[in-house]
Amino acid sequence: MTISTNLGFPRIGTDRELKKVLEAYWAGRTDLASLVETGRRLRATHWALQRELGIDHIPSNDFSLYDHVLDTTCMLGAVPLRFGLKDATIDMDTYFAMARGTDNAHAMEMTKWFDTNYHYIVPEFEDGLEFRLASSKIIDEFLEAKGQGILTRSVMLGPVSYLLLGKSKSPGLEPLDLLDQALSVYIEVIGRLESAGARWIQVDEPVLVLDLDERVPAAFESVYKRFAQARKRLKLCLTTYFGSLGDNVDWAMRLPFDAIHLDVVRAPEQLEKALALLPPDAALSLGVVNGRNIWKTDLAATLDLVDKAATTIGTERLILAPSCSLLHSPVDVESEGTMDPVVQERLAFAKQKLQEVAVLTKAANEGRAAVGDVLQANRAVFDKGQASGRVCNAAVRKRLDSLSEEMFHRRKPFFGQRKSLQQAELALPLLPTTTIGSFPQTAEIRKTRADFRKGRLTDAEYTQAMRREIETVVRFQEDVGLDVLVHGEPERNDMVEYFGELLEGFAFTENGWVQSYGSRCVKPPIIYGDVYRPLPMTVEWITYTQSLTDKPVKGMLTGPITILQWSFVREDQPRRDTAYQIALSIRDEVRDLEAAGIRIVQIDEPAIREGLPLRQSERPEYLDWAVKAFRLATCGVDDRTQIHTHMCYSDFNEIIEAIAGLDADVISIEASRSDVELLNAFVDYKYPNDIGPGVYDIHSPGVPSTEEMVDLIRKMAEVLRVEQLWVNPDCGLKTRQWPEVEASLRNMVLAARRLREELASPRQ
Ligand code: GLN
Ligand code: ZN
Repeated sequence: MTISTNLGFPRIGTDRELKKVLEAYWAGRTDLASLVETGRRLRATHWALQRELGIDHIPSNDFSLYDHVLDTTCMLGAVPLRFGLKDATIDMDTYFAMARGTDNAHAMEMTKWFDTNYHYIVPEFEDGLEFRLASSKIIDEFLEAKGQGILTRSVMLGPVSYLLLGKSKSPGLEPLDLLDQALSVYIEVIGRLESAGARWIQVDEPVLVLDLDERVPAAFESVYKRFAQARKRLKLCLTTYFGSLGDNVDWAMRLPFDAIHLDVVRAPEQLEKALALLPPDAALSLGVVNGRNIWKTDLAATLDLVDKAATTIGTERLILAPSCSLLHSPVDVESEGTMDPVVQERLAFAKQKLQEVAVLTKAANEGRAAVGDVLQANRAVFDKGQASGRVCNAAVRKRLDSLSEEMFHRRKPFFGQRKSLQQAELALPLLPTTTIGSFPQTAEIRKTRADFRKGRLTDAEYTQAMRREIETVVRFQEDVGLDVLVHGEPERNDMVEYFGELLEGFAFTENGWVQSYGSRCVKPPIIYGDVYRPLPMTVEWITYTQSLTDKPVKGMLTGPITILQWSFVREDQPRRDTAYQIALSIRDEVRDLEAAGIRIVQIDEPAIREGLPLRQSERPEYLDWAVKAFRLATCGVDDRTQIHTHMCYSDFNEIIEAIAGLDADVISIEASRSDVELLNAFVDYKYPNDIGPGVYDIHSPGVPSTEEMVDLIRKMAEVLRVEQLWVNPDCGLKTRQWPEVEASLRNMVLAARRLREELASPRQ
């Protein structure tokens, strides 16, 4: 019999119960008992639901109060020494201290989980750290489910991935040096699970889809051999996702496992080789339902793939599953209210995805006829989608087919040539000062937007309120003495959602929340059809702003890659095509701003780095179209119009050449948190255009002094030419409070002035 399984269920709850209780607990509005009880209730509900849906192997320990990597850190007792843990087990205070920091100890770093928008807490390794079993969560949750009559498959992050996802803080200490220590804790856990009655464990080793260095295969071999010796009847499913085993396939398929899970949604090409190499006594778990997107599965096409596997290895050795944990998917389409039906009938969230797994499993076991009705209904949805004029727009297609080379280039190819033209218009001083776009989003602004949405304000009242806010922000910037002004973005709730709502081809859910980190959830827009811009989006706000001042006002847009990256995207065309469609819409907006007299336009691309594929070999292709999409969006303007871009969330060093390839006249970039690191990129690479490495970190509270900023700009001027430097904060100011913004910007303008004077009269 083919078995159906799940790799992990979303933790947040249909109604974001986890988020709510966590935030109440942190704010002291509820106690530990109610936090613990909510967690227990969510787990019980999710287990019961999965059983009801017909899933044979249901996961446990996929739940977490914050993050599963942090949970693994706790299991191993790998608490950084600064948290001063004395007791043997880790209490809730220590757990949240590691995640969120305290007055005495800064939080552990957080970073993106592979190429998803989920963030994990990065393990830290330092001399003096000793691993020991310090949390029995995985065993407790197995027993909890067992008490409910369900023998779950406990999920654990495997030791090699865990160590490679961490960072060493002590010179000379390599994460893999800790393998033996970690192994003994894992083996203790495996023994305990076995005694508790477990039959299967799921060991996630997602690093198997990455480019690995030569030490890693041997590490895997020794770990999995030891695991095989430690287990008696307990079976192990080695689990990979987010890509292909690729060049790791030969040795990975020889590891001692009872089953191996492969993501054949993301990487169907790996199936053939895996089938050929699968050891005769092992099972193959096929990840056939996309755990990372929100579309229904094409069931018939998927069954063709399942059949192919079954023909080679038989249905007995087949397991069917989502491609990865459903952590990355919203919970339940049925909790959507008033969505566009054309879109809604094509959606499948976590619950629906498990229904699909169950149907596919039934078809594998009993034949397609046993699920004939479901297959037919599924076919109809796909046919309808393709036929819908809402999905395919002939004009958009035609435009995309007729792109010409010059649309990707400014007329004068060198920034130096453009800069003099732009200076003639703008007459900016040396070290021009500006901000990244947003100003504090006060409670009042948010209320105005909410009132307008709910129909409590008329169009005219809303416009007036926003104009008042814009005027305040303009007068403020003039008073502070900034050189390039912005309108402050009061009308925007979110930099992607705002544009998605004004573009065609986008849909929005009411409840399609996905965990981003801890209690933080995001609700990405859904790109379901060809994208175009029916009407100008920002022109009225920006021209109004410009009418208030003689200083240049910078128009503010979100770039195509960021919009793509932070949305659920369609799968019936390459990502590149969707990016180009968005780029063309932005291009129209940029040109309209220019035509309306706006001389500077900034197109934010904070997400360009995070779209980078996991494998080195796939990166050049991505960077090629990502850069082209940006250029398509921006190159429609005259050379006298100045194009800015902004990026943050750091680590740009490795793509610095692609960033230069964007050919933005000016880039502002996050630098102050890791100033040394970022500036290093410019030691070897001579960045050609103008650049504003942020001179202060807007994420840390407090007001930077003029001296600090003067020092930092001096450091910047050592690796960059002073003529190419701009002076700005490192990101938007929307989460800050007015008093600190005012004080910080005044100090920043002073810093620029001081350096200008100094440079005008060099010391003898
Ligand atoms: N212009 C946006 C702002 O200032 C940029 C936000 C971002 O970089 N994430 O808020
Ligand atoms: Zn930013």
